[in-house]
Amino acid sequence: MDEFAVIDGRRVNLGVAARDFKYYIFDWDDNILHMPTRIYMEKLDDDGRWVPTSVSTGTFALVRSDEARYRLPLVGGREAAFRDFQDDPDAGTADSAFIRDTRAALARVAAGEPAGPSFKTLRKTLREGRIFAIVTARGHASETIRDAVRIFIDTVLTPDEREEMMTNLRGYRHCFDKVDRFGTDEEELDYFLSMCRYHAVTSPDFKEKLSSDSDFGSRFADATSAQKPELAKEFAIRDFVEHLFRTLRRTGGVGAHQVAVGFSDDDVGNVKAVSDYIRRELASRFGCCKFVVYDTSDPELVSGRKVTVSGQLDLPGF
Ligand SMILES: [Mg+2]
Repeated sequence: MDEFAVIDGRRVNLGVAARDFKYYIFDWDDNILHMPTRIYMEKLDDDGRWVPTSVSTGTFALVRSDEARYRLPLVGGREAAFRDFQDDPDAGTADSAFIRDTRAALARVAAGEPAGPSFKTLRKTLREGRIFAIVTARGHASETIRDAVRIFIDTVLTPDEREEMMTNLRGYRHCFDKVDRFGTDEEELDYFLSMCRYHAVTSPDFKEKLSSDSDFGSRFADATSAQKPELAKEFAIRDFVEHLFRTLRRTGGVGAHQVAVGFSDDDVGNVKAVSDYIRRELASRFGCCKFVVYDTSDPELVSGRKVTVSGQLDLPGF
């Protein structure tokens, strides 16, 4: 229940202290937004020849396991296929392909085209000021993804929703960080965004982190190129859940609240790999946490198909 107070001259929602702790991990492409970025592949034509073709991310999720008809370019392989999913080292963030494509995708939504199935959930997560993670198979720097989230906030949230978000963010700061003096809205928003995670799992930084991990490093080295993105997503999820629990322990939140983590992805391969990983590893390690996976591969289902992977309690609206 919301409960407002004025602290340091600012409106603060003290009601956040009684909320359940629900957090989300979002895939980006075709889950939040339908991005115009293309993937360069080769396709077997009717005469039995492999010819260059480019596919959308949505099509790629469907054809990536169709090895009889689609393959990565013989020359350049995965790197060539996903060349538009990396940051151009010569370009500034403002004109990086990801930022440009995010703006284009948001403009299409504003013009009435359908957003991704988890678009509304991200919007609500931001409004409520809840910590979240973006986990994408892309190869951009974390900062690039964070900048795109900032554009999402500035473009999608109405002034009222933005104020609601700030009131909630100040609530979390006051109730859990024991803060009585707030920064400017810009500073508080920056602090919130720094608590979230932006994992582009094929970026050089992320790969380095993954390769040096005592558990994942050798498994990643032995994995096939098709398995690698799934394995990297598992690692990214473990990192976020660990980060969450560290934060909750620091602020005394564990034990008093039900904790739930939701993961949404439109790629059925990722959904399966992540569900298996949660059952195999995370469910026992974080036994007090409820894990929910949303398969958003079916565009007919508004927010995807919900699968409760572990945990008993049903939280309202989750
Ligand atoms: Mg996707």
